[in-house]
Amino acid sequence: MLVTDPRVRAAYAEGAGIYRIVPAAVAIPRNTDDVVALVRHAADAHLALIPRGAGSGMPGGNVGSGVIVDLSSGFSGLAVDPESRIVRAGASVTWAAVNAAAKPYGLRLPPDPSSGAFATSGGMVATNAAGARTVRYGSVRRWVEALEIVDADGTVRLVERGAGSGERFTLTPDTRHLISDRFPKTSKNSSGYALDRFAASGDELDLLVGSEGTLGIVTQVHWRLDPIPPDIAGAALGFADLDAMVEAVPYLLSLQPSALELLDASLLQFVPDAPKVACLLLVEFERETGAAARGVVGDAVRGLKESVAHVETAVDRAGLERLWSVRRLASPALARLPAHQRSLQVIEDGCVPLDALGAYIAGLRTAAARHGIPIVMFGHAGDGHIHVNALPDTTADGWPGALHELFDEVTDLLGRLGGVPSGEHGVGRLRAGILARFYGTEVMDLFRAVKRAYDPLSLLNPGVIIPATDWSPVAALKVGVAAAVIPEDIATRLRDVERSAAWATPKLELTR
Ligand SMILES: Cc1cc2nc3c(=O)[nH]c(=O)nc-3n(C[C@H](O)[C@H](O)[C@H](O)COP(=O)(O)OP(=O)(O)OC[C@H]3O[C@@H](n4cnc5c(N)ncnc54)[C@H](O)[C@@H]3O)c2cc1C
Repeated sequence: MLVTDPRVRAAYAEGAGIYRIVPAAVAIPRNTDDVVALVRHAADAHLALIPRGAGSGMPGGNVGSGVIVDLSSGFSGLAVDPESRIVRAGASVTWAAVNAAAKPYGLRLPPDPSSGAFATSGGMVATNAAGARTVRYGSVRRWVEALEIVDADGTVRLVERGAGSGERFTLTPDTRHLISDRFPKTSKNSSGYALDRFAASGDELDLLVGSEGTLGIVTQVHWRLDPIPPDIAGAALGFADLDAMVEAVPYLLSLQPSALELLDASLLQFVPDAPKVACLLLVEFERETGAAARGVVGDAVRGLKESVAHVETAVDRAGLERLWSVRRLASPALARLPAHQRSLQVIEDGCVPLDALGAYIAGLRTAAARHGIPIVMFGHAGDGHIHVNALPDTTADGWPGALHELFDEVTDLLGRLGGVPSGEHGVGRLRAGILARFYGTEVMDLFRAVKRAYDPLSLLNPGVIIPATDWSPVAALKVGVAAAVIPEDIATRLRDVERSAAWATPKLELTR
């Protein structure tokens, strides 16, 4: 059941993100019975299990020194019920496959991670993934009707929306008060157990969504689907400075966009023929008719005519696709950075209340300049959620130290602004040790109580969400002289996977 071949272990040593940690072994279960047997064996042998989908998660929840459980292939069942608008998808089924199956019925899964081509249903649920359309449709949490999970004791259960809190973990009036007091008020949050959502719904499902493989192993997801809106239109709006962009966001939100995305000049510089502006907002409107969609684009442009420096509009899907291609065009350029300059994700997922968006972006620029690390910024302006890739020169002396200092400074900044360190990617290993700075020790104690209630032996992804005693965020890096040694051909293939976002590649193929 456990593969210990060194080449196979090496192929699972990296995910997206900064880490390279060679696991002790790899397991590739073919069905739920295999997962049950594996969990029972892990309990007997005191093995740590690291559930894993495509490995595209950024903060290191998909790597570790225990046993990697590769769920990316054995759980591919997919059945759409158009009447109830529910699709049952095995944990391995990607967002793209769910949507391809739903489309003939005029249905879709609305949150749209840009990693949808490879992100698995298990991985999306575990991170509470999100996308550009989350500004209107929420994160995936809202669309999970039920989960089939294997508990840490090997029990298989179906946990359904509306079925209540279960017996493992419950809240008292005091802990409810603490949660409402201490949870940051951002529109997105994938930073720890969602006790606020659990308190609001009373549903165990809300503890499991976003639990990053630390409370149970997801084997099947029942996704709720939504009709595909008939019409769509949008615009690209350029601004000469940050303040003008920040002021435009609440106005655009009042028009109920289905996406409101930001591309900062730091990213636009990598896009051939991009407009020469400080920031570009891409706004999309889904409506019941073409006239309504075109009308609201007109409202957006008229309402902002004093503040925009650049306007392009699109009145149909093809036109919108062309406008939005500017987003995709940055990726190949970033992948071609000189070998010594790596795009690293350590401050990549901060989310702040909307009224702090300008202060957050300005603070990021100042912090990056202070530590001498170039950054590129883009993200989900309508949710106050900014992705930041740090591009350190990995031949410079002391660059990991500078990266760590940047991580620390941005953590402080997010805390001061009432933000969270992750809006959609999760805590992983990277952010486990900073959660206390956002929630305080009493909420961290509740997080520990949740973990103990579900996984008393700490078999499932130890070190993720609840920090390991030797937590060290900028260590075990895949880059630099201290990186763990793995066969060179596999290291090269892992780098190719990262550059081309080929996360759907079966990892065993990297060993051949
Ligand atoms: C180019 C790129 C673009 C991205 N864009 C987005 C985006 O737009 N929105 C977004 O939210 N994310 C994005 N991500 C991050 C990533 O794709 C998501 O976090 C995704 O949901 C992870 O899915 P995965 O199958 O790769 O999971 P993995 O990376 O393998 O795992 C992620 C976490 O989920 C846990 N897990 C995985 N499967 C299971 C399971 N079956 N049961 C229990 N736990 C499990 C793992 O233990 C780990 O903690 C992007 C990543 C890349 C590389």
